[in-house]
Amino acid sequence: MSPRRIQKREVSDMVINVRPVIEAGVGASLTREGVFVPGEMSLGELVFAPFEGHAEAPWKVEVSNVGEGVHARGRVRTEVRTVCARCLEEFVLPVQGEVDELFYKEPTVDEQGDELPVIDVEGFIDLEPILYEALLMALPFKPLHDENCRGLCSGCGVNLNREDCRCEEGPDPSHPFAGLRDLL
Ligand SMILES: [Zn+2]
Ligand SMILES: [Zn+2]
Repeated sequence: MSPRRIQKREVSDMVINVRPVIEAGVGASLTREGVFVPGEMSLGELVFAPFEGHAEAPWKVEVSNVGEGVHARGRVRTEVRTVCARCLEEFVLPVQGEVDELFYKEPTVDEQGDELPVIDVEGFIDLEPILYEALLMALPFKPLHDENCRGLCSGCGVNLNREDCRCEEGPDPSHPFAGLRDLL
Protein backbone atom coordinates (compact mmCIF):
# COMPACT_ATOMS: atom_id res chain seq x y z
CA MET A 1 0.00 0.00 0.00
CA SER A 2 1.52 3.31 -1.05
CA PRO A 3 1.56 6.22 1.41
CA ARG A 4 -0.29 8.38 -1.13
CA ARG A 5 -3.18 5.97 -1.23
CA ILE A 6 -3.49 5.90 2.59
CA GLN A 7 -3.62 9.67 2.63
CA LYS A 8 -6.30 9.73 -0.05
CA ARG A 9 -8.49 7.34 1.91
CA GLU A 10 -8.29 9.45 5.00
CA VAL A 11 -9.12 12.62 3.10
CA SER A 12 -11.73 11.65 0.53
CA ASP A 13 -15.20 10.41 1.37
CA MET A 14 -15.49 9.51 -2.32
CA VAL A 15 -13.26 6.48 -1.80
CA ILE A 16 -15.59 3.81 -0.44
CA ASN A 17 -14.86 0.48 1.16
CA VAL A 18 -17.23 -1.95 -0.59
CA ARG A 19 -15.88 -5.11 1.05
CA PRO A 20 -18.84 -5.34 3.48
CA VAL A 21 -21.24 -5.28 0.51
CA ILE A 22 -19.23 -7.98 -1.30
CA GLU A 23 -19.08 -10.16 1.80
CA ALA A 24 -22.81 -9.78 2.49
CA GLY A 25 -23.64 -11.30 -0.91
CA VAL A 26 -25.62 -10.37 -4.01
CA GLY A 27 -28.30 -7.76 -3.33
CA ALA A 28 -26.53 -6.18 -0.35
CA SER A 29 -26.07 -2.43 -0.61
CA LEU A 30 -24.85 0.66 1.14
CA THR A 31 -25.53 4.35 0.58
CA ARG A 32 -23.00 7.15 0.90
CA GLU A 33 -23.26 10.87 0.39
CA GLY A 34 -20.90 13.77 0.45
CA VAL A 35 -19.79 16.90 -1.26
CA PHE A 36 -17.55 17.00 -4.30
CA VAL A 37 -15.72 20.09 -5.58
CA PRO A 38 -15.42 19.62 -9.35
CA GLY A 39 -13.58 22.89 -10.14
CA GLU A 40 -13.72 24.26 -13.65
CA MET A 41 -15.12 21.96 -16.34
CA SER A 42 -14.96 22.43 -20.08
CA LEU A 43 -16.36 20.97 -23.29
CA GLY A 44 -13.97 22.03 -26.02
CA GLU A 45 -13.99 25.83 -26.00
CA LEU A 46 -16.95 26.05 -23.65
CA VAL A 47 -16.06 26.76 -20.03
CA PHE A 48 -18.29 25.94 -17.08
CA ALA A 49 -16.85 27.67 -14.06
CA PRO A 50 -17.69 27.44 -10.38
CA PHE A 51 -18.72 30.71 -8.77
CA GLU A 52 -18.82 32.18 -5.30
CA GLY A 53 -20.58 29.95 -2.84
CA HIS A 54 -21.66 27.43 -5.48
CA ALA A 55 -18.46 25.47 -6.07
CA GLU A 56 -19.72 22.40 -4.25
CA ALA A 57 -21.50 19.46 -5.81
CA PRO A 58 -23.49 17.39 -3.29
CA TRP A 59 -23.76 13.73 -4.27
CA LYS A 60 -25.55 10.61 -3.06
CA VAL A 61 -24.75 7.13 -4.34
CA GLU A 62 -26.07 3.67 -3.57
CA VAL A 63 -23.62 0.83 -4.11
CA SER A 64 -25.09 -2.66 -4.53
CA ASN A 65 -23.58 -6.08 -5.00
CA VAL A 66 -24.58 -7.43 -8.42
CA GLY A 67 -22.37 -10.52 -8.45
CA GLU A 68 -19.64 -9.61 -10.96
CA GLY A 69 -19.01 -6.43 -9.02
CA VAL A 70 -20.80 -3.50 -7.44
CA HIS A 71 -23.22 -1.19 -9.20
CA ALA A 72 -22.98 2.46 -8.14
CA ARG A 73 -26.09 4.50 -8.83
CA GLY A 74 -26.99 7.98 -7.76
CA ARG A 75 -26.88 11.70 -8.42
CA VAL A 76 -24.56 14.64 -8.24
CA ARG A 77 -25.63 18.23 -8.74
CA THR A 78 -24.08 21.65 -8.85
CA GLU A 79 -24.40 25.08 -10.43
CA VAL A 80 -21.91 26.59 -12.85
CA ARG A 81 -21.36 29.89 -14.58
CA THR A 82 -21.35 29.80 -18.36
CA VAL A 83 -22.26 31.87 -21.43
CA CYS A 84 -25.53 31.58 -23.37
CA ALA A 85 -24.85 30.24 -26.88
CA ARG A 86 -27.44 32.63 -28.40
CA CYS A 87 -27.24 35.96 -26.56
CA LEU A 88 -23.68 35.56 -25.21
CA GLU A 89 -24.74 36.72 -21.72
CA GLU A 90 -23.29 34.98 -18.70
CA PHE A 91 -25.73 33.00 -16.61
CA VAL A 92 -25.94 30.35 -13.91
CA LEU A 93 -26.72 26.85 -15.08
CA PRO A 94 -27.91 24.13 -12.69
CA VAL A 95 -26.35 20.77 -13.60
CA GLN A 96 -27.52 17.36 -12.43
CA GLY A 97 -25.49 14.30 -13.31
CA GLU A 98 -26.56 10.67 -13.12
CA VAL A 99 -24.16 8.12 -11.70
CA ASP A 100 -24.59 4.63 -13.16
CA GLU A 101 -21.38 2.63 -13.09
CA LEU A 102 -20.37 -0.95 -12.56
CA PHE A 103 -17.11 -1.61 -10.72
CA TYR A 104 -15.88 -5.11 -11.51
CA LYS A 105 -14.29 -7.49 -9.03
CA GLU A 106 -11.76 -8.57 -11.65
CA PRO A 107 -9.93 -6.30 -14.11
CA THR A 108 -12.16 -6.18 -17.20
CA VAL A 109 -11.86 -4.45 -20.59
CA ASP A 110 -14.58 -3.29 -22.97
CA GLU A 111 -14.74 -4.03 -26.73
CA GLN A 112 -12.29 -1.20 -27.42
CA GLY A 113 -9.83 -2.70 -24.98
CA ASP A 114 -10.30 0.11 -22.44
CA GLU A 115 -10.14 -0.83 -18.79
CA LEU A 116 -13.46 -0.70 -16.98
CA PRO A 117 -13.75 0.54 -13.39
CA VAL A 118 -12.55 -2.08 -10.95
CA ILE A 119 -12.73 -2.64 -7.19
CA ASP A 120 -9.14 -2.44 -5.99
CA VAL A 121 -7.43 -5.34 -4.23
CA GLU A 122 -8.24 -3.87 -0.83
CA GLY A 123 -11.95 -3.56 -1.61
CA PHE A 124 -12.19 0.16 -2.36
CA ILE A 125 -13.82 2.05 -5.21
CA ASP A 126 -13.09 5.68 -6.08
CA LEU A 127 -16.18 7.69 -7.00
CA GLU A 128 -14.38 10.93 -7.76
CA PRO A 129 -13.74 10.36 -11.50
CA ILE A 130 -17.24 8.93 -11.84
CA LEU A 131 -18.86 11.98 -10.22
CA TYR A 132 -16.80 14.31 -12.38
CA GLU A 133 -17.76 12.44 -15.53
CA ALA A 134 -21.44 12.41 -14.51
CA LEU A 135 -21.40 16.23 -14.31
CA LEU A 136 -19.47 16.51 -17.57
CA MET A 137 -22.00 14.30 -19.36
CA ALA A 138 -24.82 16.54 -18.12
CA LEU A 139 -23.29 19.72 -19.58
CA PRO A 140 -24.98 21.04 -22.72
CA PHE A 141 -22.99 21.70 -25.91
CA LYS A 142 -25.23 24.73 -26.55
CA PRO A 143 -26.05 26.22 -23.15
CA LEU A 144 -29.08 28.52 -23.30
CA HIS A 145 -29.93 30.97 -20.52
CA ASP A 146 -33.58 30.35 -21.47
CA GLU A 147 -34.97 27.90 -24.05
CA ASN A 148 -36.77 30.83 -25.65
CA CYS A 149 -33.70 33.06 -25.78
CA ARG A 150 -34.05 35.23 -28.90
CA GLY A 151 -30.32 35.78 -29.25
CA LEU A 152 -28.53 38.57 -31.04
CA CYS A 153 -29.70 40.01 -34.35
CA SER A 154 -27.23 38.94 -37.04
CA GLY A 155 -27.80 42.30 -38.77
CA CYS A 156 -27.60 45.00 -36.09
CA GLY A 157 -26.28 42.91 -33.22
CA VAL A 158 -28.81 44.00 -30.58
CA ASN A 159 -29.80 41.58 -27.85
CA LEU A 160 -33.31 40.72 -29.03
CA ASN A 161 -34.34 39.70 -25.50
CA ARG A 162 -34.06 43.33 -24.43
CA GLU A 163 -34.28 45.50 -27.52
CA ASP A 164 -36.02 45.59 -30.86
CA CYS A 165 -34.00 44.96 -33.98
CA ARG A 166 -32.84 48.18 -35.64
CA CYS A 167 -32.19 46.71 -39.08
CA GLU A 168 -35.53 48.01 -40.49
CA GLU A 169 -35.26 51.43 -38.94
CA GLY A 170 -34.05 53.06 -42.14
CA PRO A 171 -32.86 56.66 -42.21
CA ASP A 172 -32.20 58.86 -39.20
CA PRO A 173 -35.61 59.82 -37.69
CA SER A 174 -34.50 63.48 -37.46
CA HIS A 175 -34.22 63.61 -41.26
CA PRO A 176 -36.77 66.07 -42.81
CA PHE A 177 -38.45 63.29 -44.81
CA ALA A 178 -38.31 60.64 -42.09
CA GLY A 179 -42.04 61.05 -41.46
CA LEU A 180 -42.79 59.92 -45.01
CA ARG A 181 -41.69 56.41 -44.13
CA ASP A 182 -44.80 55.96 -41.99
CA LEU A 183 -47.01 56.95 -44.94
CA LEU A 184 -45.59 54.34 -47.32
ZN1 LIG B 1 -29.53 33.80 -24.01
ZN1 LIG C 1 -31.26 43.79 -36.46
